[in-house]
Amino acid sequence: MSLPEPESVSQASEADGSRGPSSSRRNFLQLAAGAAAGTIITQYSTEIGVALEQATDGDLEVVWLQGQACTGCTISVLQGQYPTLEEVLSEFRLEVTFHPTIMPEAGEVAIDAMSDSPDVLIVEGSIPVDIPEAATVGQTPDGESKPLVDWVQELAPESEYVLAVGNCASFGGWPAAENKRNLYDLGANVTGARGLQFEQRTERGVLGPDFTSGAGLPVINLAGCPVHPDYVLLTIATVLNGHVPELDAYNRPKPFYEPLVHDNCPLRGYFDRGEFAETPGDEGCLIKIGCAGPYTRCDDQTRLWNDGTSVCLNVGSPCIGCMEPGFWDRFAPMGEEVERQSLFGSITAEQAGWAGVAAAGVGIGAHAVRKATGYGSFDGDEDAEAAAEASPESSAEPTDGDTED
Ligand code: SF4
Ligand code: SF4
Repeated sequence: MSLPEPESVSQASEADGSRGPSSSRRNFLQLAAGAAAGTIITQYSTEIGVALEQATDGDLEVVWLQGQACTGCTISVLQGQYPTLEEVLSEFRLEVTFHPTIMPEAGEVAIDAMSDSPDVLIVEGSIPVDIPEAATVGQTPDGESKPLVDWVQELAPESEYVLAVGNCASFGGWPAAENKRNLYDLGANVTGARGLQFEQRTERGVLGPDFTSGAGLPVINLAGCPVHPDYVLLTIATVLNGHVPELDAYNRPKPFYEPLVHDNCPLRGYFDRGEFAETPGDEGCLIKIGCAGPYTRCDDQTRLWNDGTSVCLNVGSPCIGCMEPGFWDRFAPMGEEVERQSLFGSITAEQAGWAGVAAAGVGIGAHAVRKATGYGSFDGDEDAEAAAEASPESSAEPTDGDTED
């Protein structure tokens, strides 16, 4: 079927005044970003349904491929509650013509059912290019196992929209880890794992930096380990209604991936008072035991997980930066203070905390303290760094004090 022509958020607003809650052409990503903590999907489940229903008044074909992954992103989406994936498939007539985990067919029947020009191509897991046979689907006409990279390169240009679901498909994820400590003598990224358009923080994915889908968009990266189910369903609802979500330098929808974990953390008061946990289970900010919250962007501190129940920092676990390119090496080893990645020198957590305490005494705001100490929101710095490193000409290696061993 034909899909609505893509239009920007501002175009949609001008055309139909689509900011109101009753409009079925509202930008759902903006709506999601502006909603109260953890309740957006519950509050707006009807409208999400309307959006999907409107976009899918005929059958829309979806192909979901899995590469080097643990299937955690599929499990995460299956756990989504409002609407459930089952409702998405049965009521909103998204026809998933191929999904290795949930389709009943197998073998040649499954391959034959796969659309060769899907409306939405979803890829979960990284794509191995050095050992292509590490991830294969079906066979070639010669009877050889067909590498996933070939499927991706064939199907992506024929698809209206391409979504990379999870950190592995977006940036390479853990299969692309450098293995900095050379555990088990395995070496670094032995399979040549890459994301669809990125390899870690550079645009060296299997589709290349200039790829655009039929709708004229790059791959939309829905990072996370796993992806948040809301991000998948709301993004599908948005693009199928013809809206273009604003993307950041790593092609992540900004409404989901712009907030800084550190700024919305429930333990933030401890940080500002300079009170730090020394071991897991201690009271205090978790930065000294490996929290990557100051370097990680996503809205899950307010959206929460598991049907709006909780998030890592609510249960004593440091943020491990799962939404970021470069996860996992960038924040490894877990449990140890993340090597400083700001543009400020070697200030320690204690110094940052004491600076916060002192600043509070003389009335300096928390933002100024964060800038002064190098902890916290590095708005300018981070964006410039991301833009520079997203450039095809840029170095493959992170700079500015990024991880090294
Ligand atoms: S460093 Fe981590 S635990 Fe501490 S306030 Fe920031 S996000 Fe929360
Ligand atoms: S708190 Fe950090 S590690 Fe946990 S899910 Fe969110 S981004 Fe990922």
